[in-house]
Amino acid sequence: MFFKRLWSRPYKRTYLDYAASTPVDEKMIASFPALTPEQLIGNPGALHREGLAAKKVISDARERIAKQLRAHADEIIFTSGATEANNLAVLGTIRSWRAHGIPAHHIELITTELEHPAIFETAKALQKEGIEVSFLKVNESGVNVKSLSPNPAATHVLVTCMYVHNELGTIFPIKEIAKRIRFLKKQNPGLEIIFHTDATQAPNTIAIDIPTLGVDMFTIGATKLYTHKGVGMLFKKRSIKLTNFLYGGGQEFGLVPGTEPVYLVDLFSRAFAYAQTHAEKINEKLSKLQSYFEKRITTEIPNVHIDDIHLKRSPHITHLSISNFDSELLVLELDARGIAISSQSACTDVAPPDSYMKRFGDTTGLLRFSFGRFTTKADLDRAVKALKEVLEKYKNL
Ligand code: PLP
Repeated sequence: MFFKRLWSRPYKRTYLDYAASTPVDEKMIASFPALTPEQLIGNPGALHREGLAAKKVISDARERIAKQLRAHADEIIFTSGATEANNLAVLGTIRSWRAHGIPAHHIELITTELEHPAIFETAKALQKEGIEVSFLKVNESGVNVKSLSPNPAATHVLVTCMYVHNELGTIFPIKEIAKRIRFLKKQNPGLEIIFHTDATQAPNTIAIDIPTLGVDMFTIGATKLYTHKGVGMLFKKRSIKLTNFLYGGGQEFGLVPGTEPVYLVDLFSRAFAYAQTHAEKINEKLSKLQSYFEKRITTEIPNVHIDDIHLKRSPHITHLSISNFDSELLVLELDARGIAISSQSACTDVAPPDSYMKRFGDTTGLLRFSFGRFTTKADLDRAVKALKEVLEKYKNL
């Protein structure tokens, strides 16, 4: 009842692609205090009254997010989204080390082959610049935290590992990795290790507390926060020095040049706080819906495999493979029946590495169903019905 009143379905189709993009929650936005025209006129960099009013919106937003994360306001850097925040974390750290005279062969980037392209492609670009990139072992039991062991030649190491996988929904052991890093640092007091997590898929279902998580840098973006897209943020500890990779004005501590989108930043900060306040309730709601969906899928559809079902997963993503079916065909047929899902992350148009594909029970019929605030049991019933129809239609092909 509570969910029905607060989060009633704003849209007719059955939208089950929340991991790609969340719908704008108009009711949530209407519950936020509206900005005044004066706050929306000026450039936050200007010295006049309108400029100062806009600047205050940005600094209030910074404080709102910092308070939520238990961080300092000057540790929050607004970006255009999660992709830019990830680039800033990775390129910014490594370029800063290089600018301080650390030779490339003493630097190592440790990540996983399962990262979103915003990290994976950035790592590949750095590899071309002579930076050693190595991968944490990930197998059926998840990330092998003990395999985190820097190359002996490295004096400066950046570890980046996502929090919740954007296709599988798997929750990666961020606290354990942070613990392992503390252990490695104790053993090698001269070794610098910085730990970043891409938490873009986490804030709707997991309450986040930076000191408990133990990370040095942390990314989120508006695309998954039920607000308007075009903004994101990087948390970075005060002690960490980054070098900008874009050039222009001195906004965002000189790290993200360009006039700040005042309206978007205000909504983003409030939407993040809102998501965090409701994370436990949403987790509870989605866990029930996910169990219901997965039970129906596995009992009513033959040859279906739910990926990473045995691991700790966020309840907002179910990734499955159905042997001998073409993923795109299934997505398009479901779309024609009013069901929006995806077969691969919306951000991926390059083939993932083999080790990544081996992760799936089957590499055919890969489908990601993802759920959110507005998802109902009826949505899932419609999705199961449509999927069964499509599979029946193509079963003899
Ligand atoms: N990181 C993860 C884990 C994501 O899921 C996404 C988007 O799907 C991104 C980064 C990139 O977000 P954006 O496209 O909003 O920059």
